[in-house]
Amino acid sequence: MLRRTLLLGLGRGPLGRGLGTHRGGSILDRDGKMSEIKKKIRSILPGGDWNPLYDTSYLPPESSDVVIVGGGVLGLSVAYWLKKLEKPRGAIRVLVVERDHTYSRASTVLSVGGIRQQFSVPENVQLSLFSIDFLRNINEYLAVADDPPLDIQFNPSGYLLLASEKGAAIMENNVKVQRQEGAKVCLMSPEQLRNKFPWINTEGVALASYGMEHEGWFDPWCLLQGLRRKVQSMGVLFCRGEVTRFVSSSNLMKTASGEEVNLKRIHEVHVKIDQSLEYQPVECAIVINAAGAWSGQVAELAGIGKGPPGTLQGTKLPVELRKRYVYLWHCPQGPGLETPFVIDPSGTYFRREGLGHNYLGGCSPTEEEEPDPGNLEVDHDFFQDRVWPPLAQRVPAFETLKVRSAWAGYYDYNTFDQNGVPLLLGREGPGAQHHLSLAGRAGRLQAVRPRPTESVGGRDPRTDGPG
Ligand SMILES: Cc1cc2nc3c(=O)[nH]c(=O)nc-3n(C[C@H](O)[C@H](O)[C@H](O)COP(=O)(O)OP(=O)(O)OC[C@H]3O[C@@H](n4cnc5c(N)ncnc54)[C@H](O)[C@@H]3O)c2cc1C
Repeated sequence: MLRRTLLLGLGRGPLGRGLGTHRGGSILDRDGKMSEIKKKIRSILPGGDWNPLYDTSYLPPESSDVVIVGGGVLGLSVAYWLKKLEKPRGAIRVLVVERDHTYSRASTVLSVGGIRQQFSVPENVQLSLFSIDFLRNINEYLAVADDPPLDIQFNPSGYLLLASEKGAAIMENNVKVQRQEGAKVCLMSPEQLRNKFPWINTEGVALASYGMEHEGWFDPWCLLQGLRRKVQSMGVLFCRGEVTRFVSSSNLMKTASGEEVNLKRIHEVHVKIDQSLEYQPVECAIVINAAGAWSGQVAELAGIGKGPPGTLQGTKLPVELRKRYVYLWHCPQGPGLETPFVIDPSGTYFRREGLGHNYLGGCSPTEEEEPDPGNLEVDHDFFQDRVWPPLAQRVPAFETLKVRSAWAGYYDYNTFDQNGVPLLLGREGPGAQHHLSLAGRAGRLQAVRPRPTESVGGRDPRTDGPG
C-alpha cells in the first residue's frame, strides 16, 4: 500500500520516497521553502546526488534476505555475526527493524550490564565465556576504520554468590559444572568470606562462590552503540518501524517416507513506518525474532500459540515482560573498590557504580508481588520494604545509605525454564530441526523437561535480575 502510494503518487526514486512520508519533508513543503533550501544545499555541496534533506534511511528496502525484529543487543549481535560469517562478502542482505530508536524501553539499556560465568547449565557458561572474550577484546570485533576505539567501560570484578544451608549443595554442584566448562570459580566458607570481605555479615550464609576471572560489568548503552556503528559499517540496513504482521505461504510436501507435511514459511514482513499509519511490505527468506521481552508477542504475530491447544501451533513462546526496579544509592561508609557483584540468598543484589561510594542493586519480586508491567514507574516502597532490609542485614554499613535515583526496565522472562530461546521464526515441518527454529523449539516444549533454572546462590527458582 505504502509502496504503491510512493510509486504512483510521488514518482520513483529516493526523492519521492523521502518526501512522501517524512514529516520534516511535508513541513518544508507547506512553507514553500523546499526549492530554495535545495538550491542552497546544491551550491554548498561539492557535487554528487547526496542531499541530507532526502534521507530515506528510515524506510525499509522492498526485500531483504534476513529481517531481524528488534535492534537491541541480541538483534544487533545476530546482524553482526551474519555479516561477519557471510561468504562471499555482501552475500546476505540483513535488515534490522527497530520501533524505538531512543531505546527508551529496551532491556539492554535499562539493565545493570553484568556478565557472570556462574550458571548451572553448561551452554550458558560457554556462551558467557565466549561473550567475555568479545567484551574484553571489543575493538578486535567492533572497531570501525577512522572512528575512535570503542570504550564499553568494562569493569572486571567477580560475582559473589551467597548460599544458605538449603542452597549450598546446589551451589557446589553448579560450581562443578562451571569448572568443567573452563570457568575459574572458587568456593568460600563463611570464615574465608569474612577474611576477604570484612564488611559482609555472614549470618545465614553456609557457602559462597566467587568468580576469579571473566566476570564484571560494563556500560550496555556503549555496547549497543558500538554494535550499531559496526553493523552499519558492514552494510546492515536499519529501519525505524514496527513489525506488525507476517505473511506466510504453505506448501504441501512429501517426506522421504511418503508422509505429507505442510511446510509453512514467512515470506513477507509488514513494517509500520514510524509516525505513520502505513506499512511497507518487505519480502524475506528468514525472520529473526529478537524482540526481547516482546518476543512472545512477535511470535504470536507468526501464529505461534494461536493454534488448537496441544498442537505445535497452540504452544505459546513462553516469554513475558516482567518489570524490574534498579535503585542507585550513595553510602560513604559502604565497601570500597574491591566490592564484587554480590547476590544474596534472598535474591537481593548489588554492585559498585563508579568510584564515589555509589552502588546499584535491586531484588526480583515474588510471583505474588509481580508489578503491573503496564508502565515503567518505580515503586519506591519496594526498596524500603523488600530491598533495603536484606541489604542492611548483609552489609551493616548500608544502614546509612541514601537512595539517589531509580529506574525500571522490562526483563525478558522465560516462564518455562528461564533460559534463552532460539530466535528464528517461520519454518515448520521437516526442515525445522536444521534451523533451531522457534516453532520447532516451542513444539518440543511439551516433550522436554525444563533445563535447570539459573539459580543464584543455590536459590531456586527466581533467577532473573543481574546477568
Ligand atoms: C533491570 C534489568 C537488569 C538486567 N541486568 C542484566 C545483567 O546484569 N546482565 C545481563 O546479562 N542481563 C541483564 N538483564 C537482561 C538483559 O538486559 C536482556 O536479557 C537483554 O538486554 C535482552 O536484549 P534484547 O536485544 O533481546 O532485548 P531489548 O534490548 O529489549 O531489545 C528488543 C528490541 O525490540 C524492539 N521491538 C519489540 N517489538 C518490536 C516490533 N514488533 N517491531 C520492531 N521492534 C520491536 C524493542 O523496541 C526493543 O528495542 C537485565 C534486565 C533488566 C530489566
